Amino acid sequence: MDRPRFVIEAAEAESFAQKSGLTIHQLLPTLVKSAKTLARPPISNYHVGAVGLGSSGRIFFGGNIEFPGLPLHHSVHAEQFLVTNLILNAEPRLQCFAVSSAPCGHCRQFLQEIRNSSDIKICVTSSDENTKQQQEDHGCNYYTLSHFLPDRFGPDDLLEKDVPLILETHQNGLSFVSDNDDDGGYDKCCNGEASESLKFAALEAANKSHAPYSKCPSGVAIMDSEGKVYKGSYMESAAYNPSLGPVQAALVAYVASGNGGGYERIVDAVLVEKEGAVVRQEHTARLLLQVISPKCQFKVFHCKRASF
Ligand SMILES: [Zn+2]
Repeated sequence: MDRPRFVIEAAEAESFAQKSGLTIHQLLPTLVKSAKTLARPPISNYHVGAVGLGSSGRIFFGGNIEFPGLPLHHSVHAEQFLVTNLILNAEPRLQCFAVSSAPCGHCRQFLQEIRNSSDIKICVTSSDENTKQQQEDHGCNYYTLSHFLPDRFGPDDLLEKDVPLILETHQNGLSFVSDNDDDGGYDKCCNGEASESLKFAALEAANKSHAPYSKCPSGVAIMDSEGKVYKGSYMESAAYNPSLGPVQAALVAYVASGNGGGYERIVDAVLVEKEGAVVRQEHTARLLLQVISPKCQFKVFHCKRASF
C-alpha cells in the first residue's frame, strides 16, 4: 500500500483540480474522505479529516488522534493536526480548509491563534447543504471562521500587535542552562551522538514554540527505532485549554511522516523547557510517552531565555 499523503505540492494540486474539472476550492472537499483515513481515533472510532490550502498553493491533510489509557484532553483534533502540519512544512498562511464535521468549539478557539483567522474559510462537508451540492455539481459552501465563532476572544485581547502568532516565525532565544550535564545529561558512551542531536532538535522546537501567554515555551524531539527524529513545539491558546502540548505536536510529525504503525517504535524522547517554569510539560509529557511507548527513554533539559 502506498504511504498516506499528508502534503500535496502546489503544481500537483493544480493538475489534480484541472484533470477533475474542479477549482482548488472544489477539490478540497473531495479529499476529505481520504484525510479521514489518516485519523487515529481508537477511543471514539470517529474519524475526522481536514484538508487545507496554504498560501503557497500546497494542500495539507490532518486527522484526529486519540490515546487510549489517557484522559481525553490529550487528544489532537483534526484541525490542530492540520495547523501543525502547516508549521512542519513552514507554510505561512492557511487560506481555507474543508473538514468532515463542523469544527468543535475547542478548534474554533485554537484557530484564533492564527493572524487574521476571521478570514479563514471553512467548508463542512457533512453539512446538509454541502452533501446535496457535492452530489449535484461539486459545489461547496465555505464560511469564514468569524461565521463559526462571532464575538471572538483571542490574541488581540491579550497581546501586543507585534507578537508573532501561530504560523509566523518564532525565535524565542533559548539556550541550555549550564548545569544540564549534572542534571540528567546523556551518558556519552551510550549512543551519545544521537542523543545530543535529539537534545538540540528539542531546543530548536522550543525556540519555535508559541507560548506568549505563559512565556513558558517548550519543545520535544522523539526518535524512532530507525533513528529518525520528529520535532514538536508547544502551542498556546489565549483561552489556555485548547493549547497543544509539545509531545502531541511531535506525534503529529511522527504520524505525518507516514508511520502507520504503533507509537511503540518511538524509543527516545527529549523535552526542553525553562527551569522552574510556571507551565511545565515534564510530568504530562512523561505520562503520555509512558502510556504510548512504555520502553521509550525520556529526558528533560532546561533552557533559559536570552531574550523575550
Ligand atoms: Zn475540534
